Amino acid sequence: MSTCITKEISCPECGAVNRVDLWPGMDRREKPLLRKKVLEESLFYWVCPHCGYRALMEYPCVYHDRDLGFLLCLLPEGTGDVPERLPPLPEKLRLRLVTTPAQMKEKVLLFESGYDDVAMELVKYSLTQLVVEKWHIPSATAYFTKADEKEIEFAFFRPGQTRPVLQRTRMKAYRQAREILKLLHYHDGKGFVAVDMALAAELFEQFRHLEQEDE
Ligand SMILES: [Zn+2]
Repeated sequence: MSTCITKEISCPECGAVNRVDLWPGMDRREKPLLRKKVLEESLFYWVCPHCGYRALMEYPCVYHDRDLGFLLCLLPEGTGDVPERLPPLPEKLRLRLVTTPAQMKEKVLLFESGYDDVAMELVKYSLTQLVVEKWHIPSATAYFTKADEKEIEFAFFRPGQTRPVLQRTRMKAYRQAREILKLLHYHDGKGFVAVDMALAAELFEQFRHLEQEDE
C-alpha cells in the first residue's frame, strides 16, 4: 500500500514555506508514477517552487513491487534501523536493504529485467577490480544499467565524480556467477538483505575456500 506524508518545509535559500509530499511507502501497482521518479532519480530531489533551489532529501522508505515479488527498504546512512516487525509477507518476496536512491534504482532495474541481483553483484565486483586496476584509482562505485543476451553494462563513477563511464562485460560472466552461487548453495537470509559489494566479497571468499578444499 502506498503511503504519503505531506510536510511543510522552509526553503534554506529563500525561506518560503512549501508543502512537500514524502512517500514512506511506495507500491508500484498503485502508483506507477513513483516508479518513474525512482528511475529518473527525481523522487528524492526537492526543488523550491519560489527560487528554484534544489536539494537532495533522502528519507527511509519502502518500495514494493507485488507483480515481480520484491520489496526494497531504503535506509539512508544514519536514518534508523531496518524495520524488525513486518506485516505478513509472501514467502517468495525478495527483501533488499539499500542505503542510497541510486542503489534503489539499480535494484528496480535489475529485478524488472529479470536478473538475479546477487549474481549480478558478483559480476560487478569482478569488473570493479579490473576497472580500478586499469584506471589506477583506489575505488569506484558502479551500478547496473542494462544488459542483452551478449553483454552487461555498468555505469562506473570515480571517487568524487558525478559523470559515469560505461563499462561492459560479457553475459558469460553472469552465467558463471550463477554457477558459483549454486555451488555455494546461496540463499537469502531472513529479513532484509544488503546485496552489495561487501556481500559479493564475502561470497568470493567462500568460493575460494571451497576451491581450496577441492584441491
Ligand atoms: Zn526557495
